[in-house]
Amino acid sequence: QDVVNKIAAGEIIVAPVHALKELIENAVDAGSTSLEVLAKDGGLKLLQITDNGHGIDKDDMSILCERFTTSKLKKFEDLHSINTYGFRGEALASISHIAHLTVTTKTKASNCAWRAKYDGGKLAPAKPGQSADPKPTAGRNGTQITVEDLFYNVPTRRRAFRSPSDEYNKIIDMVGRYSIHCQGVAFSCKKHGDSGTSIAIQAAATTMDRIRQIHGSSVANELIEYAAADDRYGFSAKGWATNANYHIKKTTLLIFINNRAVESSNIKKAIEQTYSTFLPKNGHPFVYLSLEIDPQRVDVNVHPTKREVNFLNEDEIIQAICENIRDKLAAVDT
Ligand code: ADP
Ligand code: MG
Repeated sequence: QDVVNKIAAGEIIVAPVHALKELIENAVDAGSTSLEVLAKDGGLKLLQITDNGHGIDKDDMSILCERFTTSKLKKFEDLHSINTYGFRGEALASISHIAHLTVTTKTKASNCAWRAKYDGGKLAPAKPGQSADPKPTAGRNGTQITVEDLFYNVPTRRRAFRSPSDEYNKIIDMVGRYSIHCQGVAFSCKKHGDSGTSIAIQAAATTMDRIRQIHGSSVANELIEYAAADDRYGFSAKGWATNANYHIKKTTLLIFINNRAVESSNIKKAIEQTYSTFLPKNGHPFVYLSLEIDPQRVDVNVHPTKREVNFLNEDEIIQAICENIRDKLAAVDT
């Protein structure tokens, strides 16, 4: 059973960034307005996320890493919801099978923070010989998740990582995506040992500010805002995209569906097609898209490592979005 769990976890979490994405989503779901990420060796040695959200009840700490026991899964309809896209109550469980996991958390109602270690889905002693119960400790409201020695017990996976800096770049990319999307949330991302931060976004920053800080003024100065919605297809979309003055060699596409970062090759194709009449040959845009779709219409029956998402009326929805982008591009063009 344990081997099965370990293998399953290793398939879900293929790189540190996959664990990080789930931890960011948990922190955002907890209503955090501040999120700090710290990574060592590209997240393989250490991946730490500190938030100021509502925290975890001490009583829930014993079951935190059990599969399919977590709060969201109690509602059956959530099984069909994009909000559970990915692990479906398995993120912390999976991580505990392939890393050393420590959770420190404090709710407003508690007068101290509680710290617990997990191993293989269960509470584990902080030090050999000690009891495995959560221990009281000092701490602020919120949660700190510390993932150490990721894949320590999956040597084949560990050997696949040649370059910690590649892994750290993926981490920066993911933190960058969520920092642009999550209005009202402060983000920081730091490499262990560095004096400065790779990303530092204030809570008050606008979407434009955020894009400027992550992708630079050359992008931010050429942005147009677009939007589309249609009740018939249960969606509304909005975002920012570069105008025809801007182009780069590769498309930068940040897609969020129901507040989850996802990939969609169909959206990508359509957007590149839309821009092809406005940009020079080999010129590509930057596009940020936030799409809200009735969760019942989103297909979550995909493998978690496949970030591809499908939804009903995909053609109609993508067309409506691209039409609005095209209109805005044409308006700026003339
Ligand atoms: P899921 O998010 O799908 O429920 P996870 O394993 O990612 O499964 O998280 C399990 C549960 O732990 C969450 O449902 C939530 O109740 C709690 N949790 C995890 N991370 C945090 C956090 N940063 N702040 C508050 N609660 C959290
Ligand atoms: Mg989660």
